[in-house]
Formats: sequence, C-alpha cells, structure tokens
Amino acid sequence: MENWEIITHLGEDREKYYGAVVPPVYQTSNFVFKDVNTMQDALADEYHHAVYSRGNNPGVAILRQKLAALEGADDALVFSSGCAAITCLLLSQLKKGDHMVCVSKPYGWVSHICNHILSGFGIEFTFVELSETDAGVSAYIEASRNETRLWYLESPNTFTFEITDIENVANAAREKGIKTAIDNSFCTPLFQKPISMGIDFVVHSASKYISGHSDLVAGILCGKSEAIKAIYDNYYLAMGAVISPHDASLMLRGLRTLPLRLKQSCDSAKIILQGIEKHPAIDKIFYPFHSDFLNTAVAQKQMISCSGMFSILLKVNSMEDIRHFCDSLNLFSLAVSWGGFESLVFPAMVFSQKYMPESVRLPENLVRFYIGLEDPLSLSSDIMNALDNISKIKQV
Ligand SMILES: *Cc1c(COP(=O)(O)O)cnc(C)c1O
Repeated sequence: MENWEIITHLGEDREKYYGAVVPPVYQTSNFVFKDVNTMQDALADEYHHAVYSRGNNPGVAILRQKLAALEGADDALVFSSGCAAITCLLLSQLKKGDHMVCVSKPYGWVSHICNHILSGFGIEFTFVELSETDAGVSAYIEASRNETRLWYLESPNTFTFEITDIENVANAAREKGIKTAIDNSFCTPLFQKPISMGIDFVVHSASKYISGHSDLVAGILCGKSEAIKAIYDNYYLAMGAVISPHDASLMLRGLRTLPLRLKQSCDSAKIILQGIEKHPAIDKIFYPFHSDFLNTAVAQKQMISCSGMFSILLKVNSMEDIRHFCDSLNLFSLAVSWGGFESLVFPAMVFSQKYMPESVRLPENLVRFYIGLEDPLSLSSDIMNALDNISKIKQV
C-alpha cells in the first residue's frame, strides 16, 4: 500500500461514525458490554478488544494501524511520549543480568534510562563509539557478551548525525540471536525503513515530525505481532503510559500532512545549506547527505532522503560569539525539540556537559538548526546575516 493510501484511508471505517471523514475523538476511559459473555470474551483478550482506554481506544487503534503499515511492521503501540515507548521496550527486553549494546550518543534521556535507572536493576550497558567513517558493525560485535540481549541504534542521531549501517548490524545481530531496536525519529518511516533491513523494533518520538505541530508529546513502538502483543499484555497495560484520545486525534491530524511537511523541511534544508556552506565563519557542516560528511555512502544506501535538520561548527573566538550569533537570528527560535512547523536553533553550549565522558561531549561551538515550513530563502539570509555578524566581530 502506498504511503498516501495508508495515511488517508487505512484503518478508517467511516460508515461506523455517520460518514464523518475525520474519526471522532473517543474521549472515554471505559467501554460497556451488552452481556456477561461478551464482557468475558473481551477481558480474556484485551489485545483485541476495547475494555478500558489504558489498553485499547478506537481512535488510537486507527493510528496504530497506520503507523505499523508505514513502518512495514505488524503492529504499533502508541505512548504518551517517546521516552515512554523506549522505556517500555527496554523493560520488556532486558532482565537482571542482561546486557545491552547501545550507540554512543543516543537521545540524551536514553543514556539516562540506561545508566541511572535500569543499571539499578542489575542490567549492564556498553556504549559503542561510531565515527563518521565507521558505521559500527564491528563495534557492536566486539562489545557483545553472552548476556547481550539487545543492540540499540539511533541512525542518524540528532546532533552530529552519525550513521549506523542498519542492514549489516541487523544481520550480525540475527546471527548471534540478539534483538535489535532503532530510534527512527529523524527519518520517519517515510525516509527510512529499518524493519525491511532486518531490525526487530522501531521506536519514535512522535512529538517531532510525525505529529509535526509542536502541540503534543507522544511515542511509538513498532514490531512483529507476537513481540508487540507480549509487550502490550505484560508492559504496556502495566506501565499505563498511554496517549490520551484527544492527543491521538491531534497526532492523526498531523500525520495526514507528514509527506508534505517532511518534503518541505528537507528541500528547504538543502537550499539553505547550499546558501550558507561556503561562509568563512562555518568550520564544518553535519548533515548525512552533505559532502562535509564522511559517511554519505552508507547514509545514501539506507535513507530514502535526509530530513530538515543539520548542525554547523562555528569559527568563533569565544562563547560570546555564539551567544551573539544565536541572539541575532530573527527567524529561528531558541528551543529544544524539532519536527514542528517552526524553525529552531539550538546551541550545544547551553548543555552542561561537565559530567559527561569526553567521548560523547558535543563541541561547544556546535549549533543545530531545525528547518520548519517558512520560506527557505528568508531563512537562509537570516543565517547569513548572523554569520556575517561573527565575521565582523573577528575583524575588529
Ligand atoms: C525527542 C526525542 C526522543 C524522546 O521523545 P519524547 O517524545 O520527547 O519523549 C527520543 N529520540 C529522539 C531522537 C528525540 O529527538
């Protein structure tokens, strides 16, 4: 099924709700049954029946079908945040004494979940370095032990965009009987299909591109039916980190325009990079499809396209120059997160990195841009002006 068909039609049974083109918001916690037998059947199989909205909700069910189909997965669960989806996945796959190999710079709270929460339950973690030239297969193999149960990938990551060779890593894991999971938030299922490359689980922060309007926080976990059913029965129902019916409806609305938004964000990023790449105040550009990037071959092998976020290293004399650069941008708001309609800038210097190991620290002169839906030429000249400001300072 084509993406547009999934997004517009899959899972919608419009005759059930008076032909409404948009499904109603099933704003209900509870579902009633016509007799004891029906109730008994439903409670015996909560995976397939709506009993209580901590499990199934018809509006959420529509989203689940669409998200699973877009990823090429059997099923998907929707959570109240990306972190909830990741936590639920890790809790379901790892037990006391188990070990996980993780990409060295995953989304920040993933390291926290591993090092500060799950480590307290007797689970061990090894973080493997990826460089721009090493897509990581050998690093994952070398870091593995008999107790290794899961390899956790994020490709690309969202500050320096290191790439993992997904297919090779998935094949190596399967040979060793180790499960694999990937955070696919940056590419979305439209630009990267990890399950078709052999990955077992895909997680997303749907707060980013998938919802796309900076108005909700949500997460997704996709995989094979048996595995997802086991997670649903034993962890999802118990953790209770579910999306609200109203947020599910907002996510569905965001999803309708994902292909258009993603294309605009990505096309604009390319235009902007072409506009700014030669500026003398830029030392380096981090973007998987840019020629400064050393691992473009693997990126282009596995990514259908590259989304609208990139980082630059600024040539500066002091942190004051970076502050000045970011404060002089007019069309980019200073904020965390990304994937919405609005363009954003995030200077790495705002992180306090002093407690982080040297190897995973971001360069302090790194600045990340997320490109939203505004006019790309205006965005580009806004960045150029701010870059010119730095150059002026340097000449003084
Ligand atoms: C934001 C983000 C997360 C966490 O998702 P939340 O919805 O904020 O909990 C995970 N991974 C990546 C790549 C992210 O950008």
